[in-house]
Order: sequence, then C-alpha cells, then structure tokens
Amino acid sequence: MTEHDLLAEADRRALAYLDGTPTRRVFPDAPAIAALAAFDQPLPEQGHAAEQVLRQLDDIGSPATVASNGGRYFGFVIGATLPAAAAAERLVLAWDQCASSFNNSPVADQLERVAGRWVCQALGLPAQSAVGFGTSATACTLTCIAAARRKLLAGQGWDFDGDGLAGAPALRVVLSETAHVTVKKALRVLGFGMNQLIYAPVDERGRIDPARLPPLDARSLLILQAGEVNSGEFDPFAELIPSARAAGAWVHVDGAFGLWARASSSAHLAAGIEQADSWTCDGHKWLNTPYDSAMAICRDASALAAAMNSDAAYAMASAQAQTNLTLEFSRRARGVAIWAALANLGRDGLRRMIDRHIRQARLLADALSAGGYQVLNQVPLNQVLVRADSDAQTDAIREAVQGSGEAWFGPTRWQGRPAFRLSVSSWRTTDEDIQALAELLLRLKRQSGA
Ligand SMILES: *Cc1c(COP(=O)(O)O)cnc(C)c1O
Repeated sequence: MTEHDLLAEADRRALAYLDGTPTRRVFPDAPAIAALAAFDQPLPEQGHAAEQVLRQLDDIGSPATVASNGGRYFGFVIGATLPAAAAAERLVLAWDQCASSFNNSPVADQLERVAGRWVCQALGLPAQSAVGFGTSATACTLTCIAAARRKLLAGQGWDFDGDGLAGAPALRVVLSETAHVTVKKALRVLGFGMNQLIYAPVDERGRIDPARLPPLDARSLLILQAGEVNSGEFDPFAELIPSARAAGAWVHVDGAFGLWARASSSAHLAAGIEQADSWTCDGHKWLNTPYDSAMAICRDASALAAAMNSDAAYAMASAQAQTNLTLEFSRRARGVAIWAALANLGRDGLRRMIDRHIRQARLLADALSAGGYQVLNQVPLNQVLVRADSDAQTDAIREAVQGSGEAWFGPTRWQGRPAFRLSVSSWRTTDEDIQALAELLLRLKRQSGA
C-alpha cells in the first residue's frame, strides 16, 4: 500500500469509528477487553506491513475503547473533540512540525502566539500574559509553580538557578483542603513536602473560607481553584487575591476546567480571578480539543520564560518561543487545535457551548432530585454530585450504569461518603442524552429500591 492509500485507509477507519459512536457501548464489554490479549505479542523480529498493523489496531483496538468522544460519557469532565479541532489535528500531523520555536516552525510559532492571545481574551486574563501550551493541567501547574518559586526566591535575594534549593529561604505553600491531587503531585515533584503544605479550610460547598485563610507573606504561594472537581465551586477570588498579592504572595489558580466559565454567561462565578499571577487551564476537557492540550498562563511573561528557558548555543529562541514556556524541548504544535477550536467557535459559540452544558447539568440535577436522588452540590457549573438512599445503593447504581454500556460516570467521595459525579462537558451531548441518563438512573433506583 502506498503512503497515500494507507493514510486514506486510516481515515476511512477513523470515520467508520466515529459513525459508530452514537450506538457504541460507552464502556467496552468483557469480550472486547479480553480480545486485547491478542496485542500481547513478542516484539516482532521482522515487522508487519503497515496496513496489517492498522487493521489489527482497528479490529482489536477500536472495540475496546471508551466512547469518551461521544455524547453519553459523563466521567472526569472529559469532553469529546470538536470537528474543527480534529480536522486541524489531522493537518498538523501531516505537517509534522517540531513546534519549539520560529526557526523550527514559523507557522506553529505564529498560530500558538495567536492562540495564546485568544485564550487570554476568551478567559478575560491580562493581555500581556505568557501562554505555554503544555501536555496537561498537571504539567502546566508544575511549570507555573516552578516560575512562582523562582520569582519568590529572587524576591528574597536568592538565585534559584545558580544555587538551587539547598539552603534556600523556606517558602510557605497555602492551598485549599479540596485542592486537586495533581496540584499536590506538581508540588511534590518540585520538592515541596506534603507535610509542609498549609491547608486553607473550606466551607460546606468546598470553597476556601476567607475568614480562616492562613496568613500570607512575600514567601508564600497561594493556590486557589476555579471549579472544584466534585462540586464545580469556585474559591472567592475577589476576596482572596488582592490581599494575598498585597502581602507579596504569588497566587496561582488551578482552573483545569472551571476557568472556561469565564467565557460563559456565568463568568461572575470567577469574578476577580484575573488578578492572580498564574493560571492553569485545559483544552482537552471543556474546550473539547484532543488530548495533551493544556495552558500555563503567567501574568509576568518573563517569569515563566526564565523558569522554562532552554536556550542552547545551537538553539536560541525568543522569550515567547514555546520551548521556553513549557517543559518540552521538542514538542508537537498542540496549540494549533486550540486555535482551530476558538476560530471555529468564536466568542459566541464558546459561550453557547459552555452555557448549554451548565443548563444541561441543572436539567439533570432537577430530574434526579425529582426522582428521589440527593443532589449534594448547588450545581453552579457542569458538575452534578449525587447520592442515592444508602452508600450501598449509590455504589450499586453506579456500577449498574457502568456495566450497562449506555452511559459512564465515575465514583467519588463527598464529606466522607460515596457519591457519584456527573460531568457535562461534551459538545455532542444533547438534551436527549441528558434525559436518557436521567431515565436510566431513575429506573435503576426504582428497581434497586423494590
Ligand atoms: C483534571 C483536573 C486537573 C488535571 O488536569 P490534567 O490535564 O488531567 O493533568 C487538575 N485540576 C482539576 C480541577 C481538574 O479537574
């Protein structure tokens, strides 16, 4: 097969896969998973023909996928991929750019610069901010915290690049009791010990209580969140950020999915967030771009560029080059799909998508509480946190849904007890999908109550 025919065949199979998405089981069945054992082969001595490799991938692999690219997946705030972003991704794959700097790819350099500017405009963040397109909110939080630490230490007269951490002035890290696990991972990897973290107490909705915020100073890093993973709640930015910054602290916001509220009619939920020093946001969640798509956004562009600098004698790049704003040296042009999504949606389309998911989450919450479920959060955003009559019933119903293949969502714990968490974040999810999920949940509850 020629390269052309092979890629056409891959596209034919990809399109057939997508056409099957509406009727696909959302989580694969046991036979499809068992069939994956066929991949368990020794490394071949002689390679197989490319079309044979592709056929095996599709025939065995496709049936064992999770249909998170469909409309009935409600786990982990995972969105499907917008067609405009998927199409851009196909072209970017053909370009095969090493998108580290202008010298490696003028087109990627330009598009990621524009995408960064648009992201700041869509989210209402300071226009001069640096935007690094990293692999994940985890990686982007890590880069923002690295920039924050370097800058805070410089303020203490400490040369972090030269002298490292040994003997450096101690920094205080203050974060929410409900901070995301990946924020703690980023801190841990950077050498902030878990026993050293200072937790800010939260109210019953999971928001930091300003009255009980631990003291902050010029050696402090305060980490807030936009969109708590269970409740979808926001820390009170307007109350917390100005005084934290006045004390000299660096304020970082984890807005992996919740930052997109800024692009919606519910922007008031995140009022004051623009006053922070840095922000993390995902494309692959609520913007519905393909995976490995996130943003590290830093008000002080030079702080991020200095912390992530990787200039070498043979590879000097500008402070705005992506290689100097992310962990990667060689990297794919992941900001292009973000550019394409924003170019395709526009401000208006983005607002309508986010608004629709917020409305659908409320629709779901109303249907479930009318059917006897306990909705545990206020549903300010796209997260619905639910419990049945007992812990055992909650778990049993979730497992029954997961096993049915008709929808999927995951478990969580809220205030010490099991619950399940429904996220509405796919452009494909229709009101009918929401109704079908509600009906399924109500039917299972009636059956398990009987
Ligand atoms: C998903 C999530 C993260 C981690 O994002 P990744 O892109 O998966 O690394 C961090 N914080 C919050 C609130 C999230 O929902």
